[in-house]
Amino acid sequence: TTVFKEGLTKTRTAFVERVEDLIVRRKKIDEAFYEELEEILIGADVGVNTVLELVDELRAEVRKRKIEDAAELQPVLSEKLVELLRGDEDPSLNMAASGMTVILFVGVNGVGKTTTIGKLAHRFKTEGKRVLLAAGDTFRAGAIEQLEVWGQRVGVDVIKQQAGSDPAAVMYDAVQAAKQRGVDVLLCDTAGRLQNKTNLMEELNKIFRVIQREVPSAPHEVLLVLDSTTGQNALSQAKLFGEKSGVTGLVLTKLDGTAKGGIVIAIRNELNLPVKLVGLGEKMEDLQQFDSEQFVHALFA
Ligand code: GDP
Repeated sequence: TTVFKEGLTKTRTAFVERVEDLIVRRKKIDEAFYEELEEILIGADVGVNTVLELVDELRAEVRKRKIEDAAELQPVLSEKLVELLRGDEDPSLNMAASGMTVILFVGVNGVGKTTTIGKLAHRFKTEGKRVLLAAGDTFRAGAIEQLEVWGQRVGVDVIKQQAGSDPAAVMYDAVQAAKQRGVDVLLCDTAGRLQNKTNLMEELNKIFRVIQREVPSAPHEVLLVLDSTTGQNALSQAKLFGEKSGVTGLVLTKLDGTAKGGIVIAIRNELNLPVKLVGLGEKMEDLQQFDSEQFVHALFA
């Protein structure tokens, strides 16, 4: 909870402290109160649709419990948020029942894909697992080197080819190397250019096929990495990728750097995809498994 709490400072200031201020200032729950609450939630990037739904549910609950005093609203709001965030999905990573686990990372450039791979490699390594990285972004200048920097930092090898080579060939090499070395977890970077969406999706499909041919149960996760500082933009990226690329879960990065932490709520409400991990800083340790209760408690703590 402490990690979440520190990471969510900006969101807490922009969102929870304003709600608290509203409660103290207005005292009574009336139309003006709800209007201001909606404004605050939209400002924290919870998203208009989700805000309207959430506030409707709050109204119903307030009526049901015959609440008049605004001070009594906060626990109801946190309850509703936990409910909304929880969903049915399991936030833990799906791992191979036996043998190698393959995790694919997708998402546009700059969202924090490489950093997340580095952080996760560190986590698995700390757990005593053998980890290998695959430099599947052969398109962006510097992507391979950047992954290597993380590899060195964490102490895991990177399988790569020259820039511009076929990413599916890199994946083939990586899977072979992983098999030979008895690797437990293979973490695969992919290209994130969006200019040419169709090509990117074809490229991802080809990567999928190569991996699946070599490891039939793989990929065990396809994690879409989203930059939470981009707010509603992250939501549109999720919709765009989610439909086509077999995404199984989301990673929300840079939550520490944004007051728009409400985007987590919008994404959970509007998409049928679990948030699996959140990035709360630039360091190796700044990656947390998502936990809805911890998240909400950290906000309101
Ligand atoms: P990629 O292009 O998707 O591989 O993005 P990078 O991994 O290179 O990350 C882009 C920038 O975001 C880098 O400066 C990272 O240090 C930074 N970054 C990534 N994740 C986080 C995070 O959780 N919090 C913060 N504050 N910065 C992050």
